Amino acid sequence: MLTSNASTRNKAQGERFRSSCDEIVQSTLRCALGNWHAARFLAATRILCKTKGSLIPKKTVLVIEDEPHIVLGLRDALEFEGFRVLSASKGKDGVALAKSEHPDAILLDLMLPDTNGYAVCEEIRRFDAFVPIVMLTARSQEGDKVRGLDSGADDYVTKPFSVNELIARIRAIFRRTQRVAPTGAAELFRIGAAEVNFARQAVHAFGAEHQLSYYELELLRLLVERAGFPVSRDEILLKIWGLDGGPTNRTVDNFIVKLRKKIEPQPEKPAHILTIYGFGYKLVV
Ligand code: CA
Repeated sequence: MLTSNASTRNKAQGERFRSSCDEIVQSTLRCALGNWHAARFLAATRILCKTKGSLIPKKTVLVIEDEPHIVLGLRDALEFEGFRVLSASKGKDGVALAKSEHPDAILLDLMLPDTNGYAVCEEIRRFDAFVPIVMLTARSQEGDKVRGLDSGADDYVTKPFSVNELIARIRAIFRRTQRVAPTGAAELFRIGAAEVNFARQAVHAFGAEHQLSYYELELLRLLVERAGFPVSRDEILLKIWGLDGGPTNRTVDNFIVKLRKKIEPQPEKPAHILTIYGFGYKLVV
């Protein structure tokens, strides 16, 4: 449940963790170097960390949500994690911010005062196929989730949600984004008649080019890395979504369907992204 108490508790836990780590580092250094050298070493390290921190651009998260207490709780938790947070309470303003500020991830409420999250998502996808969009929804009906994913959302959490879980998902997004940051060099991979260009986040197949969303690209990259070997749904969820398995396994299946439509000559009879029943998927190139 998202409450200001939860956010205060998160902060307190984080501070306790940092201070206990600091104590361990200090006592180890004192043993190794003696008190005076340890103090000098720690002071120098802190200056270096501060300088380095200021040089690393902050990742920006855009929150499109009209419930003030949720915005406040998310802002607190995300800023505590070191992210820059932008927020909009209306869909129209959220789309404008997404266009002008190019956020690194978007948290999008389904029920907004001027429109709904599906329409906002479709609008954002017209100018940004890649930015990861996580939908915040009070509904838990499977149909709503599928509609959200169809409109271009990458993931969803059902309210009331745990801030820690949401932060874990955002961290997973940014961990992978850092690892796969486009280098400018073409990264091509052929799967049957389809050519995947990882640097351009696109698939060219059957005379058409399709943009890949963040999760589509990452899921495909994982399957390519393990081509010829089965990959379990649980592993996919953990590595791509930063989640433990369970009921959200359906999310993986939805994304496999999207990828098959872009890669397979006959998506309903897949020849490349094969289902391993009761386990997961295997890519055959
Ligand atoms: Ca709302």
